[in-house]
Amino acid sequence: MLATKNYKFWFCTGSQDLYGDECLAHVAEHSKIIVAKLNESGVLPYEVVWKPTLITNELIRKTFNEANVDEECAGVITWMHTFSPAKSWILGLQEYRKPLLHLHTQFNEEIPYDTIDMDFMNLNQSAHGDREFGHICARMGVRRKVVVGYWKDEATQDKIAVWERVAAAWADSQDMVILRFGDQMNNVAVTDGDKVAAEMQFGYHVDYCPVSTLMEFHKAVKDEDVKALYDEYLSLYDYDPAIAVEGSAEHKSVMNAARAELALRACLKHYGAKGFTTNFDDLGTADINDPKFEGFDQIPGLASQRLMAEGYGFGAEGDWKSAALYRTLWFMSQGMPKGCSFLEDYTLNFDGANSAILQAHMLEICPKIAAAKPRLEVHFLGIGIRKAQTARLVFTSKLGSGVTATVIDMGNRFRLIVNDVECIEPKKMPKLPVASALWIPMPNFEIGAGAWITAGGTHHSCFSFDIDAAYWEDYAEMAGIEMVRIGKDTTMESFKRDLRINDVYYMLNNR
Ligand code: MN
Repeated sequence: MLATKNYKFWFCTGSQDLYGDECLAHVAEHSKIIVAKLNESGVLPYEVVWKPTLITNELIRKTFNEANVDEECAGVITWMHTFSPAKSWILGLQEYRKPLLHLHTQFNEEIPYDTIDMDFMNLNQSAHGDREFGHICARMGVRRKVVVGYWKDEATQDKIAVWERVAAAWADSQDMVILRFGDQMNNVAVTDGDKVAAEMQFGYHVDYCPVSTLMEFHKAVKDEDVKALYDEYLSLYDYDPAIAVEGSAEHKSVMNAARAELALRACLKHYGAKGFTTNFDDLGTADINDPKFEGFDQIPGLASQRLMAEGYGFGAEGDWKSAALYRTLWFMSQGMPKGCSFLEDYTLNFDGANSAILQAHMLEICPKIAAAKPRLEVHFLGIGIRKAQTARLVFTSKLGSGVTATVIDMGNRFRLIVNDVECIEPKKMPKLPVASALWIPMPNFEIGAGAWITAGGTHHSCFSFDIDAAYWEDYAEMAGIEMVRIGKDTTMESFKRDLRINDVYYMLNNR
């Protein structure tokens, strides 16, 4: 598994010195209690760190700049306990560069009708303090998430938890390198885009890695490591018994697949990459009969499946946007139960209200979404430069609701398209030995697919059972990109209107 930083979130409470030291002592005490309880709740995936109350321009500016340079700080949560004049926040907010969550809550839950007096009012003032802060954020166009709710309520904590996961994945994206082995599949438009704009918008960097360089890692793989990985495969998965027969074509294919996985992992590690793309026409020396042949004998599909499960971003056929998005999706969903995968719309099944889309790929589906133990099999694959016996994990996905997402480049902005889907039970497909899922896009096949296509969505997407549209909404806000969602309430009429309105908005707000 890739190493990930121990991200933390700072809790910054706003106030002022108008009410005297005693009041400020209460403010600090209250926010310390809130922070302690949030951390004890078990709901938040990352720790919240209490910071001294912010009451002056200088301290606010200093604190935000410290947050900027602190490598473990992945975002700041602000709460205006009392009234905090918002001009004090201008410089700090101008210089702050990380995700911001504005929590609108109050230390005291209910109005104590019998005893309430002016002192109580002055100590329970976020009702107007948070509006003052909201105003300056709106005026300055500061991107943030506003969470409204009582801090002890799980529903409130859940919203903070969603944002924390997204913000940590966002931090992870800022030093992300995606390696491309080979280029885009020739002439393909939807998976391509402006890599300079992507780096400015998302932080991640996309680099070219010659396949000849990857082959240097391939040469360096040790036979005993190949054998050990082969043994690991047989211990982890069900498998075709022919694979265990030394000298069989199946055995040879799996050994070569293991060697390819070791080469890819070593190369990714060497360059500190968090994701990669492949191209089925670019797998090393073109001619396998060349005496100097150094190459993969098959598309490294099994490696891609397993590296995806480990957290490496993956996009097939040079699809670097999907590779980066998958890594972010995997990062957000760490520790969650049902899994995520790169998928591709492959084949349609017209069946009235159950009309669905078969999601598969030639090989590369992440086993984290498998309904049962994957089965390791070897079959002939007749596409790309090799046309060879090719190892892969075969399974069908779990069932139930999930969300799939893609990012496309519209020229003047990136558009995130999000679609709720329902994975249904597929029939047996004995002649199609690949991993797959079968889903109905919401609100139904006609509108789901129609809206996706109208919005210009890819045939590749990043799917998760655990990460719903709320996460993607936070992600789009952090990235400052367009998001369109296709869900149970979508109509084509409203969806097309949204697209047209967005076109106007982004004409005025080019990236
Ligand atoms: Mn594809």
